Amino acid sequence: MQQEQFNKQLFEFLHQSPTPFHAAEYLADHFHQVGFQRLLESEIWETEAGKGYYCIRDNGTLLAFKLAADPCEITPWRMTGAHTDSPALQIKPLPDRSGNSYTQLGIEIYGGPLLSTWFDRDLGIGGRVTIIDENDTIKIRLLDFQRPVVTIPSLAIHLDRKVNEERTIDRQKHLYPLLGQSLDNEDSPFSAIIHQQIQKQYPDLSFRELLGFDLFCYDTQAPAFLGMREEFISASRLDNLVSCFIGAQALLQDKLSDNCLLLCSNHEEIGSSSVAGAHGNFLRTTLERLLPDAPSRQIILNRSFLISLDNAHGVHPNFVEKHDPQHLPLLNHGPVIKYNASQRYATTGRSSALYKTLAQEVGVSPQEFVMKNDMACGSTIGPITATDLGVQTVDLGIPSLAMHSIRETTGSKDPYLLFKTIAHFYNRSQLPQYET
Ligand code: ZN
Repeated sequence: MQQEQFNKQLFEFLHQSPTPFHAAEYLADHFHQVGFQRLLESEIWETEAGKGYYCIRDNGTLLAFKLAADPCEITPWRMTGAHTDSPALQIKPLPDRSGNSYTQLGIEIYGGPLLSTWFDRDLGIGGRVTIIDENDTIKIRLLDFQRPVVTIPSLAIHLDRKVNEERTIDRQKHLYPLLGQSLDNEDSPFSAIIHQQIQKQYPDLSFRELLGFDLFCYDTQAPAFLGMREEFISASRLDNLVSCFIGAQALLQDKLSDNCLLLCSNHEEIGSSSVAGAHGNFLRTTLERLLPDAPSRQIILNRSFLISLDNAHGVHPNFVEKHDPQHLPLLNHGPVIKYNASQRYATTGRSSALYKTLAQEVGVSPQEFVMKNDMACGSTIGPITATDLGVQTVDLGIPSLAMHSIRETTGSKDPYLLFKTIAHFYNRSQLPQYET
């Protein structure tokens, strides 16, 4: 696949994946279409060499793998990991608030968004609802209004003349999205529009009651190219849907070697500790099912490798001083290896060597990032998985600007360059070897 077509499909995925649940479902559909079989954790698995499988946990986490066609007892696993969630505003269980003719929604802050970027945007509502039907069966359905529904208006500058110098955001007071204008006879406008939307999306569903929901406000603006030569991509949720898409596209290739696996986890932005998060046991229990003998599993994991994919900070032209002067990742110069002496990233000189070998073989030059010593370093799923499985891991990602803004920017070449290296990771006849 060439870059132009790749970006077109990436844009489609970003736009159709307003929440982690939709992202996991979108990717699962694609795996299904090319013959991967769905596995349920509640059942016994019977897998065959050479076949592809996928499994979804808690709607928002997807694990897909393709088994080696001709396995031996110690066939390694080539694994990539990414995350399906992005910082967002999550709707509270009892969200209705009204006054001054307005109807508004109470929200909680999910993860660490750049809150100022959420004002004056056309926000949709999407996520997951849990209902009980006429036969007392509890059912889960994904919901997406697929249109702007709410907005959080800024306060006019005329009412706060110092806003450009002194603006602060009160997280409890200033972030109620505007849902509409209230009518006298409405008990719960929010519940009413959710019921309407369920009926619109699922006309055959005879539901008795809405029992629960995990719904988010999201940016409805479609991804776009920017720049005089369209050298940039501007989109919501680039962190980290772009990595989920790259991992999936690489795993969907015809020719793969060894056992290849992709894990796209929910809840990374809130620390990964959950049933669906990377701190949960989804990957470990999957590998235990597929490799039930503990000593041989340990040998296999020792020969395996994980690439943890999450976006990196490209150097910002207006804030160059925020970067270490020797480590300045540039947009459109390809994937960035992320290092941290305290292992907030799992990369070591040993694991980066394997990735550099792969990248050089496909003509991609590695960029390297380390945080300045006087600034705290972020983290991602790499160290969590490396710790749990004892598998060699490198942390890697495309360079981006405005991470955790509602709208992030990356280079239009970078996703494809990362795809090329991950595709090569999955299909190289043998992983580069270390001396034993
Ligand atoms: Zn991320």
